[in-house]
Amino acid sequence: MTAEDSDGLPPLREVIEACGLTARKSLGQNFLLDLNLTRRIARAAAPLEGATVLEVGPGPGGLTRALFMEGAAKIVCVERDSRCLPALSEISEAYPHRLDIVEGDALRIGLDDLGLTGPVKIVANLPYNVATPLLIGWLKADWPPIYESMTLMFQKEVAQRLAACPGSKTYGRLSVMAQWRCDVKRLFDVAPKAFLPAPKVTSSIVQLVPIQSGSPGCNVRDLERVTAAAFGQRRKMLRSSLKSLPVCTKSLIESADLAPTTRPEDVDVAGFCRLAERFATLRGSHGVATTVENQRD
Ligand code: SAM
Repeated sequence: MTAEDSDGLPPLREVIEACGLTARKSLGQNFLLDLNLTRRIARAAAPLEGATVLEVGPGPGGLTRALFMEGAAKIVCVERDSRCLPALSEISEAYPHRLDIVEGDALRIGLDDLGLTGPVKIVANLPYNVATPLLIGWLKADWPPIYESMTLMFQKEVAQRLAACPGSKTYGRLSVMAQWRCDVKRLFDVAPKAFLPAPKVTSSIVQLVPIQSGSPGCNVRDLERVTAAAFGQRRKMLRSSLKSLPVCTKSLIESADLAPTTRPEDVDVAGFCRLAERFATLRGSHGVATTVENQRD
């Protein structure tokens, strides 16, 4: 083994045993032990030189160590399970002043609370039970955001939804929210056997790069409302599914340049942005309809 293949820290299996880290399902704990794989994930986020990486859920530190080996200048990690802290402190000693360990729930810690200075890259093997709300929170950050990319592990099924194109079965609210803000790419799959313990499902690494300019200018809350209404009844045409919104459905769809008979899975991201913008305008003016009026449409 060459110096490039090892960071001189103990093997992860030993670290996990020493910390008594029996995996907890409630914390989405499936650890990656294979250094080739964690380094591949870290390389997907390259270049790391000069970057500050935000890692959520470092656990015993397999990915953290790979990120340092691939050149990360600084890592800020947020971990909820205090049993992981001794392992993380050992990494911090091996990389002095380069690892900030924050113990806490990442769902309750905003990007602004972490004192991150750019360029920032978010890289994480996310706990599955909170992966989607974490991502949505980062997508709702002030725009342009502090991060320049997110390289994240999701369940394959969630990854497919994130990257889905209009017209596909998996295209839905999550696809619109993610692609409104970012270029989304599914990079590669990771088999269950790569994890300890092995989950039941395959995972995928997804990279999201913020669209800095030209990101359509609708309001995130309006976009959430129109996508929730449309995909809440995804088999129905827009003229039916959007009736739950408190504006005149006909005016909303026509002013967004869409056909009332279109189904939500065939509306592209720009189409949903137009709906969100028109929804905001109509709601704020004379377009507010009663349920009776919408029933007539
Ligand atoms: N990064 C490690 C790896 O790749 O082996 C561990 C990944 S494991 C899938 C998810 C990690 O997230 C666990 O260490 C778990 O304790 C942590 N975690 C779970 N919920 C969390 C939360 N709300 N905030 C911060 N960390 C959390």
